[in-house]
Amino acid sequence: MNYAFMAVAFMKITGVPRVDLSIQEKPLREKMISVFTEVIDSGDLILGKNVTAFEKEAAEYLGIPNAVGVANGTDAIKLALAALGIGKGDEVITTPFTMAANVEAIFHVGAKPVFADVNYETFNISPEKIREKITKKTKAILPVHLFGLPADMEKIISLAKDADLFVVEDCAQAFGSEYKEKKCGSFGELSATSFYPTKNLGGYGDGGMVFVNKPEYLDKLRHLRVHGQVKKYDYKYIGWNSRLDEIQAAILRPKLRLIDSWNDSRAKAAAIYTKELSGIMQVKIPEAPAHSKHVFHLYTIKAEKRDELEKYLFKNNIGTTINFPAPLHLQKGYSSLGYAQGDFPVAEKLCAESISLPMFVGITKEQISYVAEKISSFYN
Ligand SMILES: *Cc1c(COP(=O)(O)O)cnc(C)c1O
Repeated sequence: MNYAFMAVAFMKITGVPRVDLSIQEKPLREKMISVFTEVIDSGDLILGKNVTAFEKEAAEYLGIPNAVGVANGTDAIKLALAALGIGKGDEVITTPFTMAANVEAIFHVGAKPVFADVNYETFNISPEKIREKITKKTKAILPVHLFGLPADMEKIISLAKDADLFVVEDCAQAFGSEYKEKKCGSFGELSATSFYPTKNLGGYGDGGMVFVNKPEYLDKLRHLRVHGQVKKYDYKYIGWNSRLDEIQAAILRPKLRLIDSWNDSRAKAAAIYTKELSGIMQVKIPEAPAHSKHVFHLYTIKAEKRDELEKYLFKNNIGTTINFPAPLHLQKGYSSLGYAQGDFPVAEKLCAESISLPMFVGITKEQISYVAEKISSFYN
C-alpha cells in the first residue's frame, strides 16, 4: 500500500488560490535556467536573435506575415494605433468593460476614445452598438477579446469595411483563441497582445507584441519602438522606447510551444466548472458561441448577491477577482470624455454581477468541485 499516495489523494482541500502559476512553470525550471544562461553568455540583451526568432514563430502560430515585439501590451496597442497614423482629431471605438490599456493607448496617441456598450452574454463589444457610434471622425474599431473569448469578428470586420475603418484587436487575454477557425490577432490590420506573467502566454516580467497582418506597417512599427529611429541617430518619427527584452523573448519561445496544451487545460477546467455550476439557478455560466474557441483566460460568472458571494468565498479561502468593479466610462481619469452613469447599462450591469473564479493551468477537478460546492452552499 502506498500511503504517501493515499495521503495526497485524500488530502482535504481547504482553499483554492485565484491563480497558481507553479504547476505551469515547475516543469520548465531547468529549461529556463539554461535559457537565462545562454542569453547572459551571449551578451546580446536587446533586440537580439531571440526577439527576431520569437517574432517569426508567433507570426507563424497566428498565420500572419509578421510580428513586432514591444515592451508591454499597452504599448503594443499604442504603437499599432500610431503606425496606422491615428492621432489628434480621430476617434477610436472601444469597449468600456475592460481594464485601462485600450483607453490609455487611444489617449496617448492623441485620439479620442468612444465607447460602445457590450453584449451581456459574451462580455464583448456589441457590433450593433459600434454601428451607432461611427462618425466622420472614426478611424478605427478596437475590440477586446475579453476573458479569452473572441469578439464578434465577422460583424466587426464587415462594419469596418463598410465605413473604411481600421481594426486593431486587443488579444491580451486571448492568445491562441479562434473565431471561425482563424486565430484572434489575424483579423485586424494590426493587433496587440501582452505577455504579462499571468496572461495565457506570459513571460517572467513585462512584454508585448504587435501582430502585423498588413506588412506595409512593419517598418514603421520597428522604427516606432526604438525612438522613431530608421538607423542610428536618424529619427524619422516621434517614437518611443518600447523594446521587448531579449531575455523575455528567449523565455517565451519554449512557452509558445506549450500554449495549445495550456489552453486545452484551461478549457477542460472550464468544462468541469460549467458542469458543476449548471444546476445553480443564481449563477450564469460563461457561454461561447459555437464558432468560437474560448481560451478561458478567466472563468467569469454572473452571480446574484455577487458581493456577498465574494466575501463568502474569501472566508472559505477561495481567491476570486471582480472583473471589473467599475466600467471605464465612469473612471475619474477619463472624466474629460463626459460620460455619466447609465450611458452603458450592460457594462454597468456586468460590473455589478460578474465574478471570476480560480482559473489556471493544472487546476484540479477536486479544486473546482470545492469552489462549486461552496458556491452552492452559499445559496442554500
Ligand atoms: C493585460 C491587458 C492589457 C495590457 O497589457 P500590459 O502588458 O499589462 O500592458 C491590455 N488589454 C487587456 C484586455 C489586458 O488584459
